[in-house]
Amino acid sequence: MESTGSNNKKKPPRTLLYYYGLVFLTVLLFNWLIMPMLLSRQVTTANYSDFIDAVESGQVKQVQFSDTEIRYITEEGGYIRYFKTGVVDNPQLPQMLQERGITYTAEIPETPNLLLTILLSYGLPILIFSLIGRQVSKNMTARMGAGGLNIHGRGVAKVYKPDTDKKTFADVAGQEEAKEALQEIIDYLNDPKIYEEIGAKCPKGVLLVGPPGTGKTLMAKAVAGEANVPFFSISGSEFVEMFVGRGAAKVRELFDEANKQAPCIVFIDEIDTIGKKRDGQISGNDEREQTLNQLLTEMDGFESNKGVIILAATNRPEILDPALLRPGRFDRQVRMELPDLKGREDILRVHLAKVKTEGTIDVNLIARMTAGASGAQLANIVNEAALRAVRLGGRQVSTSDLVESVETVIAGAEKKNAILSEEEKRIVAYHEIGHALVAAKQSGAAPVQKITIVPRTSGALGYTMQVEEEEKSLVSKDDALQKLEVLCGGRAAEEVVFDIITTGASNDIERATEIARNMVTRYGMSENFGMMALQTGGNSYLGHSGQMNCSQETARLVDEEVRDIIRKAYTNAKTVLAENREIMDRLAAYLIEKETITGEEFMKILGEAA
Ligand code: ADP
Ligand code: MG
Ligand code: ZN
Repeated sequence: MESTGSNNKKKPPRTLLYYYGLVFLTVLLFNWLIMPMLLSRQVTTANYSDFIDAVESGQVKQVQFSDTEIRYITEEGGYIRYFKTGVVDNPQLPQMLQERGITYTAEIPETPNLLLTILLSYGLPILIFSLIGRQVSKNMTARMGAGGLNIHGRGVAKVYKPDTDKKTFADVAGQEEAKEALQEIIDYLNDPKIYEEIGAKCPKGVLLVGPPGTGKTLMAKAVAGEANVPFFSISGSEFVEMFVGRGAAKVRELFDEANKQAPCIVFIDEIDTIGKKRDGQISGNDEREQTLNQLLTEMDGFESNKGVIILAATNRPEILDPALLRPGRFDRQVRMELPDLKGREDILRVHLAKVKTEGTIDVNLIARMTAGASGAQLANIVNEAALRAVRLGGRQVSTSDLVESVETVIAGAEKKNAILSEEEKRIVAYHEIGHALVAAKQSGAAPVQKITIVPRTSGALGYTMQVEEEEKSLVSKDDALQKLEVLCGGRAAEEVVFDIITTGASNDIERATEIARNMVTRYGMSENFGMMALQTGGNSYLGHSGQMNCSQETARLVDEEVRDIIRKAYTNAKTVLAENREIMDRLAAYLIEKETITGEEFMKILGEAA
């Protein structure tokens, strides 16, 4: 067994060794191949007889003897050429040269300057490499962002530095529920003693979950700012991408540093890049798995009492490895949803406070125009407006700048982040009110807890949160029929008001069909078949639908009856809504304005109208 403990981290990082190895090799290569080429001229090998001929014809100007060869220089018609030839024992040669006045030596005629040679052969490559090296490390540091990783002069130690850009809860508009959930952690970091005395342990890990741009990164920073502790941040992709084979070591270094600086907050952004479910495939990403394992080990290893708290962010919590979510790890989730009308107004105000504005800005108007926009998009809208103001030669941002930039940003964002148009918003509002109104007319009680037309992470454009007064074990046929009518209420409202049919009801249709089919095939609630089981097996808990066990002919009749049941429910829902058209308009208008309304508000308007 190899210990993965402290002896590993004293070794210089492998990549740096590679780097220096490369430099060394290149210098050698340079000296073997390139320097001789630079220093020596083009030397032609000649026969000894040619040499003698050249001497006799008077072309040779200089000769240099060594043990193994003779080098000589000729001049012919102004051209200087260099030759070499083998040594032949010829005692007359010196005399021949002497007679013709040719200088000859037994040494190199012009000794290249020693200092220059050394400088050229070693200094130059080293200079080039240190320049490249500095550029590389600069790029890496830039990629890590502020507070990222620094490669020190010694090239061995890496140090994580806390982020210095301080944020507080005042910078995060809205998100009250998330702030409340995180307040406990701040309290703990501010005064851990109270918690320790009673024996309570602070959660080690908190997962911030929400769509992109809802301020998860911002919130993590704000928590550190509020608690006034150092903030270490690293993105999951950096663990995996930057140095191959270094992910696990980086996790270890990060936690070493964090432990030294405790109490502090470690923030792992985009944790899904390392925390994906391990699927056990052989070709699986080893690197990622090792990094994840190291993270799990570190999280288990440190005492939460030390005051290192790990925040992580993801917009895909469903793909995280269950091991990450176990108690003692990221066992808390804090949701960050897209802002509603009020939230958007607040966010716009936070960002408008950072630019110069003209008199009064109609923040409400902008917020109403941007249903479904994320905090990041709103921040972008304000920035675009400021850019536009400058472009048009203005000195202050005006409401019209903002209105224009909404279009730029939203057109740019396209449908990626479902921002509802005014018309879509109206349709969604009527659809949701349709469900709620049908329900309210049936029971007379508050049918819903909350209605919202803020798009959800799940992709739903709006939803109506219904609460059953009491848990029902027995569902009567009337209950089932009523439920069907409520489900039909959404589509019915669209048809009554706009006379159009949209895709918004697909989920309703699915659920209604399932209920109607079960009424016929399982629960004996059908007119035609009575108490006859037409479907067996299936597990309602697991959502299996089971097998039809009847003839083709009967199956066709079942389909027909299911269709009729739903059709009847739909007609009923339409009638209810048509009769209450005025109330429906009023409720929808209110919902369009507020985007989220409670069951109480709903009942209040309903009561006023009656
Ligand atoms: P995420 O990490 O959820 O993708 P970020 O924290 O990176 O989102 O948000 C990007 C930017 O959007 C922030 O720097 C901030 O300017 C703006 N922003 C997002 N949500 C809010 C908010 N609730 N209040 C103020 N600004 C916000
Ligand atoms: Mg982020
Ligand atoms: Zn619906």
